[in-house]
Amino acid sequence: MQTVLVPGIETPLPVGKLLCIGRNYEKHAAEMRSAVPEEPMIFLKPSTAIVRSGGSVVLPTVSRDVHHEVELVVVIGRTGRNIPEREAASHVAGYTVGLDMTARDLQARAKEKGHPWSVAKGFDTFAPLGDVVPAAQVPDPSALTVRLRINGVPRQEGHTSDMIFPVARLVAYCSTIFTLEPGDLLYTGTPEGVGPVREGDVLEASIEDWPVLRVDVRAA
Ligand code: MG
Repeated sequence: MQTVLVPGIETPLPVGKLLCIGRNYEKHAAEMRSAVPEEPMIFLKPSTAIVRSGGSVVLPTVSRDVHHEVELVVVIGRTGRNIPEREAASHVAGYTVGLDMTARDLQARAKEKGHPWSVAKGFDTFAPLGDVVPAAQVPDPSALTVRLRINGVPRQEGHTSDMIFPVARLVAYCSTIFTLEPGDLLYTGTPEGVGPVREGDVLEASIEDWPVLRVDVRAA
């Protein structure tokens, strides 16, 4: 079972749902030639997709185009349903950086056929997750710079103030559909600059001065 340690909370939280938001930055929607959604677009990943810093993203043999998407991740700390936006922050235990790895070729085929994205998004190791920073140390989740370097070269840089739906709105909206539970993770969408990764690459995802999430890329 995957667990997530939040500094200040004695017992690690069992990881529950991985809620992921698509197209939450205008410039990323534009680079995907996708329309900006009118309400948050949600998909799910299994907890078995998590890999921690120091681990490896494994390229599945069935894809030839696996992309990086660096994202702010919200760690839920308190159960809630139909959470009002103004109370959303009280349900957040912490924040971290994550990568929403995506088999872009499989996703494109799924989009064409109107199929779900579960395969394109859900492979083992497709949800790298950093170390958690307690919410108390993050007064404003919409004032964060999110970065990804590959082999030392900057590849993505975005600011959470550019989110179409900010964190409180996402927590509130998700809680109208799913009961949110401690250990649920919310991947909040990627800024622009997504692109392919290759065997041997070293990915370094970071937000502000939080611990860097470092994973390498391996062939299956
Ligand atoms: Mg994403």
